[in-house]
Amino acid sequence: MKRLCVYLLLGVILLFPFYAAIGEEALPGQWFITNTKTMVETTEGYYISYDGFVFFCDKESFETKLVCARHNCLHQNEMHLSDCDAYIDGFGITVISDRIYYQGFDTIGRMQMDGTGHEEWIPAPWDRNTQQEEYGFQGKYYFYVNEYIDSVENTILQMKDFFYAIDVSDRDNQKVLIEEWDGLEKAIIPLQVSDDSLYYMTGAMNGDINLWRFDLKTQKRTQLYCTQEKGMYYCKGDKAYILQVNQGVSLLDLNTKEKRVLVTGDQTNPYYTQYYCDGRYIYSMTTNTDNFSCDMILYNLEGEELAHTEIPSASYLYLIGQDHLIFGGIEAPDVPHVAVPLNSLLQGEPVFRTINVPELFAYD
Ligand SMILES: [Zn+2]
Repeated sequence: MKRLCVYLLLGVILLFPFYAAIGEEALPGQWFITNTKTMVETTEGYYISYDGFVFFCDKESFETKLVCARHNCLHQNEMHLSDCDAYIDGFGITVISDRIYYQGFDTIGRMQMDGTGHEEWIPAPWDRNTQQEEYGFQGKYYFYVNEYIDSVENTILQMKDFFYAIDVSDRDNQKVLIEEWDGLEKAIIPLQVSDDSLYYMTGAMNGDINLWRFDLKTQKRTQLYCTQEKGMYYCKGDKAYILQVNQGVSLLDLNTKEKRVLVTGDQTNPYYTQYYCDGRYIYSMTTNTDNFSCDMILYNLEGEELAHTEIPSASYLYLIGQDHLIFGGIEAPDVPHVAVPLNSLLQGEPVFRTINVPELFAYD
């Protein structure tokens, strides 16, 4: 986890002025907590990448175990970490056609769902010799930015940035260039991937925020919206849900550019309220930093309130799954801690299931 923290920290520092320009939230909307995806859902459960190892969390029992079937494996043999099948020496993971793909240090590797059959799948498409921002996997795509020194003017380094995606399902696929820009002129925030389209935002120094759709198959880029108003977006067809911290949610018609308010934020609330959308529901999440709980309101896409509940000992929303919401804990916010079945929320009787990821390294 140390390396991930370093990358995230670097990313936040380098991009901070632009995140500040785009919105108060420093972390991407649908990309959630970290840029690099560390939890992936399958029909049976969740695969979790933590501390260089892959765990499996069963959807029925919520028991979590290492993805390792080796007899008498020590799992954390510090001299021979790679002896363990669950060890990936990386953090981002995804699942494609019954295989786990992972981002290792200098390769994208893959393995069987039981942890066996590790293989180096694609040599690293990224350039470790330069500043690198990892956005991680979304489905079969891996996203990243490489930044190069372009020139030096008056002792100031002029940087050039390249934002790429690579479809890792076929090892012969080449990386695709999505955007290139001059160093500090612009920031990129990826938002969501739906039907082979990447939706993302760019923010410029003059305060302009642009919403784009990039077709990852045809490599065609379309500008959807331009504004100076801060917010995140969730796109669905010709509509976009504008998610604004503390302020609420609006629905934007991308053809007519007409907007209407769906959810009004509570401006008197002393805490920070963040909004999410997944195309089924709108989620309002307020973290109460006094008693460390989350106040959560679930709305339908018309902004009608469906459920309102408090999630104890949860710091924030970690993943919106098909049938569960997963929250990070208080003590270790980078680890999934509580799962809440969506059904139980909608029925007004929320059920809290604790996820226990074993602590592998006491010294971390
Ligand atoms: Zn093992």
